[in-house]
Amino acid sequence: MEEVRVRIAPSPSGNLHVGTARTALFNYLFAKKNNGKFVLRIEDTDAERTSQEYIDNIFDSLKALGLNWDEGPDVGGPYGPYTQSERFDIYPKYVQQLLDSGFAYECFCTPEELEAEKAEATANKKPYVYSKKCENLTEDEKAKLIAEGRKPAIRFNIAKAQRAFHDSSILEFEDLVKGKLHMDTDLLGDFVIQKSNGAPTYNFAVVIDDMLMKISHVIRGEDHISNTYKQILIYEALGVPVPRFGHLGMILAPDRSKLSKRHGATAVSDFVKEGYLTDALINFVALLGWAPSDGEELKSVDEIAADFRIGEISSSNSIFEYDKLKWMNSHYIKQLSLEELEERLKPYLEKYDLSELSKEHFDKMIEITREPLTLLSDITDAVEYFFGDGVNFDESGKETIETETSQNVLKDFIEKAETWEWNEENLHEKLEVFRGYWKEQGIKPKVTMWAVRAAVTGRTRGADMVGILEVIGKDKTLARAKSALK
Ligand code: GLU
Repeated sequence: MEEVRVRIAPSPSGNLHVGTARTALFNYLFAKKNNGKFVLRIEDTDAERTSQEYIDNIFDSLKALGLNWDEGPDVGGPYGPYTQSERFDIYPKYVQQLLDSGFAYECFCTPEELEAEKAEATANKKPYVYSKKCENLTEDEKAKLIAEGRKPAIRFNIAKAQRAFHDSSILEFEDLVKGKLHMDTDLLGDFVIQKSNGAPTYNFAVVIDDMLMKISHVIRGEDHISNTYKQILIYEALGVPVPRFGHLGMILAPDRSKLSKRHGATAVSDFVKEGYLTDALINFVALLGWAPSDGEELKSVDEIAADFRIGEISSSNSIFEYDKLKWMNSHYIKQLSLEELEERLKPYLEKYDLSELSKEHFDKMIEITREPLTLLSDITDAVEYFFGDGVNFDESGKETIETETSQNVLKDFIEKAETWEWNEENLHEKLEVFRGYWKEQGIKPKVTMWAVRAAVTGRTRGADMVGILEVIGKDKTLARAKSALK
């Protein structure tokens, strides 16, 4: 059986998008499932929109997601180079082959002429299809145009290829995800395969690269379906096998529009910056179009790979539910050991002077604040009151501290706490007694604790109070309590 070889071919005109991450994942899973190879190719033919920063971002994001490629830039492989801009000398030979076999022709139309054609189509409310004006130029006519200084682009002759290999203008193919798809190729128009400056266009370079890299299955977004018809005809015109194609539905925002920055993060690196774990992100992304057979959604990539079947990918669009991703993220955060979690939280604690805390107190602080974390970045606010001498009061903290009851409770707290031995067990016991005393005075235990909490943390909600007192320490606790007195 033919070896399964799939690829992901991002254009580095932006940071790695979650949609591309999903395409990469499905390719990766398909390769894993079939003992195949997962290839990375950088399609940087559009030099103006390409930058090294984006290329690095693509590498880093794929690696962070665990989508390591078997062949590609920086790991190499037998069919490289895997960066398109380093392959420019490969394409002309195949352009020539198509010119020689009559499946391509030189086009001398100027941008102005083409604009005029387009404007006419628009005026007549017709979809634009190139007029084929240059299809049958004689050698003399061409020589004249060249003498004028015109440089030809090369166009692919759709109708010629279509009629050479099919009975009618209809081209049909069996999509791995969507089933049978077809199109009237007369509507495609003879497209440029090589620009007048000699650069190949996407539709041509992608075919040559996939052919030379022996790609067996092309799995990508459905926005490429109309390109697929063009590409199939190029394969046929070159007389080489056509790979299988599978097109994934689009990823839409909760409002069913195209997912964009106004909905939230869209680049993998932005999700990471916002405090998502890549394990959560990859698990979530796998569920955009695919469902595990046992209905259990929380799965590692290895578990997903074992269960994955490409024919089961949904052909419809998926909705990117940020809330569901958040839920998954909080689950994955809970799974981390304290040590792993601390490591991942470090970037979000940079504004604090961590040397204020012993290792033991640092551990304690994370232990008592980790439970409600949805994003790693939530930690920044969650631990704010552990640092510095003063307290920043929030609305309810301020309100609470000003009541007469709170002031009375606090006065008593300061007096009693002065004598307490400051360790977990004892604080636990003393607070119990303290609450009991105030209960006898008719104050509910939670009201008593609000007063202490508000004075020490500036808030009325937060982590375990004994833990907080322990980490903050006796001196600071009493100082804060005193300064909360009117
Ligand atoms: N460079 C193309 C893109 O980023 C790749 C399309 C393909 O997979 O053929 O959309």
